Amino acid sequence: MVLVVNSGSSSIKFRLYKVVQGHLEIIAEGIAERIGLDGSLTIKANGIKDTWQHDFPNHLRAVETIIASLQNLQLINKPTDIEGIGFRVVHGTNKITKPIIIDQETKMIIKEAAKLAPLHNPGALIAIEAFEKVIPQATLVAQFDTAFHQTIPEVNFIYPVPYEWYQNHQVRKYGFHGISYQFITQKMAEITGKASHKLNLIVCHLGNGASVAAIKKGVSFDTTMGFTPLAGLMMGTRSGNIDPSILAYMGKELNLNLDEVTDLLNKKSGLLGLSQFSSDMRDIENEWKKGTKLPSLAYEKYVQIAADFIVTMANRIGEPIDALVFTAGIGENSPLIRQSIIMNLPLLNLVLDNNANHEKYQEWSKISAPTSKIPIYVVRTNEELMIAQETIKLMTSQNKKLNNLV
Ligand code: AMP
Repeated sequence: MVLVVNSGSSSIKFRLYKVVQGHLEIIAEGIAERIGLDGSLTIKANGIKDTWQHDFPNHLRAVETIIASLQNLQLINKPTDIEGIGFRVVHGTNKITKPIIIDQETKMIIKEAAKLAPLHNPGALIAIEAFEKVIPQATLVAQFDTAFHQTIPEVNFIYPVPYEWYQNHQVRKYGFHGISYQFITQKMAEITGKASHKLNLIVCHLGNGASVAAIKKGVSFDTTMGFTPLAGLMMGTRSGNIDPSILAYMGKELNLNLDEVTDLLNKKSGLLGLSQFSSDMRDIENEWKKGTKLPSLAYEKYVQIAADFIVTMANRIGEPIDALVFTAGIGENSPLIRQSIIMNLPLLNLVLDNNANHEKYQEWSKISAPTSKIPIYVVRTNEELMIAQETIKLMTSQNKKLNNLV
């Protein structure tokens, strides 16, 4: 069994997989929330979802409770049934380019990178140390959101600021959503039958956080998120790119320091800030249909920015593109947004198949008409599965006794 863990500062999300006849099957998933406060644990297994109130003073207690509950529910017989644990870690600096088995050095890198991802990396590290204590026999693997983007060339990752900001302070584009992009690239190779090292893709990961990536010859060539996930597209609550002078100006206007203004750009901007209504695209779409002023403005700005970045990424690739792919919460589920974005790309000669765009689908679907210059797809991303697969790969290569695996 393999456990996939996504841990934040006050929550631990997990998904338990079992290898059944060479395939990964989901046995259970859940979340321990409000760690450090009152605490609750939710587990969904066998079609039943239950929530229990718990006292979680820290991550270690939450991890102990997760494992004990999986055992009580007879989803595992004993903790050591879990032979591998794959952790999603947001930032791996420029030192980490692929998933790795966690050792002291990995933990040091995650710790160092906390300076660059203060909201994300500390939670991952605390969870790693908690699982090390609770299941010391398991192989622990870390997979990083930044790693897939380490192939981006310097001219694409560098900012036009004093070069020593990069040399001495690590200021550069890192890019995020890398686990999702890796999954989509692998899936598109499967779907198109083309070797992944020959694939040119524009992938739009449109979730609450959102980015677009140019995948050239199967590897990341550029992406819209940058030094932090605040850059690039307009998102649920993040502004994406704006004139940087606005920070200091609004700091003075509102009597806030730069961290506080940055917080507003992360949490109170994007769809939420502009619409003054909601960060959820479903709500925004409903109001746009009714013609409500600010949600409509937010909708149109969102679509405009996404379309502009798709053009940028097409230009980056600069050679024939095998597919434009929509993924994540909005990309996978909103035919309306996909249609609006395509309508904002008049120069790319894209043609949607209207029926296909609206049809229900399982894992993926082609939604373009045969006349489209670039084929268009929707693909359901699956970061947890990607992490589970990579964890098993590393366990196998470590000669762990897992012979009959994927
Ligand atoms: P994610 O971060 O990938 O989980 O995506 C979450 C976002 O997907 C939510 O904030 C919603 O705005 C959006 N979403 C989910 N389902 C739909 C839908 N049917 N139509 C439009 N947006 C959706």
